[in-house]
Amino acid sequence: MPTSTEVSNSALHTHFAEVKQQIQHAAQAANRNPDSIALLAVSKTKPASAIAELYRAGQRQFGENYLQEAIDKISELSDLKDITWHFIGPLQSNKTKDVAQHFDWVHSIDREKLVRRLNNQRPSDLKPLNILIQVNIDDEASKAGVSLEEINALAASIVSSERLQLRGIMAIPNPEASAEEQEQSFKKLENAYRELQTQYADVDTLSLGMSNDLALAIRYGSTMVRIGTALFGARNK
Ligand SMILES: *Cc1c(COP(=O)(O)O)cnc(C)c1O
Repeated sequence: MPTSTEVSNSALHTHFAEVKQQIQHAAQAANRNPDSIALLAVSKTKPASAIAELYRAGQRQFGENYLQEAIDKISELSDLKDITWHFIGPLQSNKTKDVAQHFDWVHSIDREKLVRRLNNQRPSDLKPLNILIQVNIDDEASKAGVSLEEINALAASIVSSERLQLRGIMAIPNPEASAEEQEQSFKKLENAYRELQTQYADVDTLSLGMSNDLALAIRYGSTMVRIGTALFGARNK
């Protein structure tokens, strides 16, 4: 696990209040109800103690990228009830079993094989695993995700999987794109999300927006922003 700069508890509380306020302001500017936007705290590379502190401040949804690191923290924090764990990193098919056993949500589904394996491996005593389809909106070679055209086929296979629950779409738009290109990408994602909602009544989540593009994402319909740096501070590489 990479070591990280520690963030003090008081800084964590300040950051938490600031991020919630940013969400409020962006929602107001977009004429949206702030309660319709969930905050996912992205705790990758950060210690379990920082998660526990944010939990004490009221945060319940946490996102992790690296499987072994995540499983260690999930077991260390197992006495914190009603935490929801989201797996948001790239997923190799030989790692699906651990994800199926330890997480409540997966944001990074971009192929049939993952759907099949997660459906088979989700333990029957747990609720269906919540699934987001990752869309590679800017067609970046370095990023996982399906194209807009591939959403429907993958959605159909998720919906026909008994142990999975399709909840929506996740994307990581290219932060280097021009402002105009970024807006176009966000708009396409919002349209794809609305389109999916017309087909499946349970679809209620557009996972979009990080520390640097939170306000734009909320303008374009995000219902879940994934925030790491603005809460926990910078990560060491
Ligand atoms: C790391 C990560 C985030 C958080 O990014 P910040 O810029 O630190 O807020 C959000 N989503 C995904 C998929 C990530 O990997």
